[in-house]
Amino acid sequence: MQQVPLGSSSLQISRLAYGCWRIAGSWDPSEVTPATEAAGRRAIWAAFEAGYTVFDHADIYCRGVAETLFGKVLQEAPGTRDRIVILTKCGIRPQNTPAAGTPTRYDFRADYIIDSCEQSLRRLRIETIDVYQLHRPDYLMNPEEVAGAFDRLRKAGKVREFGVSNFRPSQFSALQKACPMRLLVNQIEISLSHLSPFEDGSLDHCLQEKITPFAWSPLGGGHLGDGARRVLPSQQGYFNSRLVAALDRVADDRGATRPVVALAWLLKHPAGIVPIVGSTDPERIRNAAAAASLHLSHEEWYELLTAARAEPLP
Ligand code: NAP
Repeated sequence: MQQVPLGSSSLQISRLAYGCWRIAGSWDPSEVTPATEAAGRRAIWAAFEAGYTVFDHADIYCRGVAETLFGKVLQEAPGTRDRIVILTKCGIRPQNTPAAGTPTRYDFRADYIIDSCEQSLRRLRIETIDVYQLHRPDYLMNPEEVAGAFDRLRKAGKVREFGVSNFRPSQFSALQKACPMRLLVNQIEISLSHLSPFEDGSLDHCLQEKITPFAWSPLGGGHLGDGARRVLPSQQGYFNSRLVAALDRVADDRGATRPVVALAWLLKHPAGIVPIVGSTDPERIRNAAAAASLHLSHEEWYELLTAARAEPLP
């Protein structure tokens, strides 16, 4: 797959990323079985073999089980670590952890960031995380405190680069101003089913600052795919038959498939959006990689935008 620079850094990544949220087969570690683990291994191997070289994780994906599984597969794939870029995230603390009665909360206190990073390193069985991201903005974020934690992690060789996720441009800028290093990534939900980053300044900010936008749920959690949909509560209402029909029309014209066209639509944006492919099906993981070589025309792009919008363009 085509390689591109990550933000303004010297890291090179594949044009599409592979997302490890679903590889453990569940949110709940108690539901992980040898069969779900074997399916996760097949998905990871399919992504390695299809040329994905950038992998997205989070500490909360199946409460660490996704990172642990990935770490095991990495150990069985000699030489792979040096050829891939690993992203992971911290900052979301589910309710009742570590103590019963605690609420779901976001936590960017320095000790928590550092401790989370060390645990991710252990689970992934690696020395250094390539890009460490803050998962969702902590309402109580103190930029100076976060910057201090990042600096300690970088100086200790535990993290190479940093980024954020689900940050508004103003939150990104507030943190960037305090940080001694450039933040490279903002991971946000972007798809034909979720157009707000095109209009709320998020992508303009990425363009202006040379930040790489990573698109989570690039198929709207499956609404733009051709298989099962296991979507987040916020994605329940995404289904749009007009959009699906328009995607199928373009796919027919181009000898492609609906999900490949939906991913290629993201790739056309000049901010250099990196869609994070979230399928756990080896064939779908391989097929999605074809988006990297499908170049949509300006007119096709607008035809799809128009089908995706509730109202015609003014
Ligand atoms: P997605 O690509 O929008 O949805 C993937 C889902 O669509 C899977 O359940 C998949 O099922 C289904 N699907 C159906 N047909 C498909 C097809 N033809 N090709 C591909 N998938 C198809 O992405 P996502 O999984 O919601 O998110 C992708 C990644 O984004 C995650 O793994 C995670 O790394 C990241 N993420 C980040 C955040 C954040 O807050 N930062 C939030 C959510 C996700 P099968 O597995 O059966 O193929």
